[in-house]
Amino acid sequence: MFDSMNLRKEILTALHEMKFEEPTEVQKQAIPLELEGKDVVVKSKTGSGKTAAFVIPILNSIEKNERQAAMIITPTRELALQVTEVVREIGRHMQLKAVTIYGGASINYQIREIRNGANIIIGTPGRLIDLMKRRELNTDSIRFLVLDEVDIMLDMGFIDDIKYILSKLPKKRQTMFFSATIPEEIKHITLNYTNNPINVNIDAGEVTVNTIQHFYSIASGSDKFATLLAYLNEKKPEKAIIFCKTQRNAEKIHSIMQNMGMQAVLMHGGLSQNRREHSLNMFKEGVNMLIATNVAARGLDIDNVSDIINFDAETDPKAYVHRVGRSARMGKSGKAFTIFTHGEKYLVYEIENYAKVKLSYLEFDLSTYRTKMNEFYKENGKQEFETALRRSNFSSNRNFRGNNPHRREFGRSNNGGHYSKFKRDRFKHNYSKED
Ligand code: AMP
Repeated sequence: MFDSMNLRKEILTALHEMKFEEPTEVQKQAIPLELEGKDVVVKSKTGSGKTAAFVIPILNSIEKNERQAAMIITPTRELALQVTEVVREIGRHMQLKAVTIYGGASINYQIREIRNGANIIIGTPGRLIDLMKRRELNTDSIRFLVLDEVDIMLDMGFIDDIKYILSKLPKKRQTMFFSATIPEEIKHITLNYTNNPINVNIDAGEVTVNTIQHFYSIASGSDKFATLLAYLNEKKPEKAIIFCKTQRNAEKIHSIMQNMGMQAVLMHGGLSQNRREHSLNMFKEGVNMLIATNVAARGLDIDNVSDIINFDAETDPKAYVHRVGRSARMGKSGKAFTIFTHGEKYLVYEIENYAKVKLSYLEFDLSTYRTKMNEFYKENGKQEFETALRRSNFSSNRNFRGNNPHRREFGRSNNGGHYSKFKRDRFKHNYSKED
């Protein structure tokens, strides 16, 4: 089917090598329109093959000597890196250059890559604007603009940045919007920034959600961790992402798990870019648990995630769908497990209604796990543990610096001044702009 799309030979060869035999639904519908030069507004979820749906037509249309011909904007750094990877893979037999522009990494390196003749610019809004203002990015030459995961960009408050970037781009260009949902606000923006766009609606996302079995438990705040332990111990997930609402909760779970001898990696916006990438690589290569905040893990394409665990429930059912979309990608099956507090019970019905799925209740006997938690706190000093986390100040980490002189050794126990196994290194993170 790709064969009949009139694509460059180099692209067809790459797709063949990547084992992309048939286009996915979104590719089938969007690519022909994009190849005709049409503006498109595509409603499609991560996991549907949407990245290739905008990368293929761009690669098919750009010439080697065309500098800065395409700009792809994503809400997070990880997504920008992931899109770049797809560009490089599908473009592996072409001599086009792509550069990823995002905060938390060397700006000089990015400037060098642009000056070296990058054809495709992929980045997050903040750093893109920075480079535009420094006149390192020449927006006059942009022929293709992609906004990926637009709804997330709006949720993250990037609306003004997006409008700024769009206002600097040439009027004569092809614009492609990709979003899992198209609320009124996005419709409004597309009216202003596209030219007779064609709407493509792919509801494959619902299929993704349907291939997942959904479970939940109800726990009081103090029992949430015991419930998590029960799930991990009894369901034995092969590869799980554990979502938390705050960086502090993610840190906490990570510390406790490591202390209990479980292998897990951590990913949130308070960590340096290097550490985030390191965690992601470790997770891809074998560590079977990733503890993450929403923003850091959005849109990630990780193979074979078997379980999505929502340690903290999301109040927005849309966010639930985004999170569980990390598992069961491309039609594989997976499990989602959410821990609701008593006050959050109503969310079960909201999610069921919104995602058209059924959440099944799981009951655990928590006694062993409560004991385990009590032992943990006894050994490490609950008060000390909580205080150290509060001091590290993750949820308002603008003030946090890894070498804060006021920060005390984390995990100092209250039983005779012995230090626990916690290492202060765990808190040596740089503050980053996102999340
Ligand atoms: P995306 O929605 O872009 O994040 O893609 C989800 C996953 O589908 C990625 O792992 C892609 O490599 C894979 N994928 C995309 N298009 C195809 C295709 N036509 N055939 C097989 N796999 C694909």
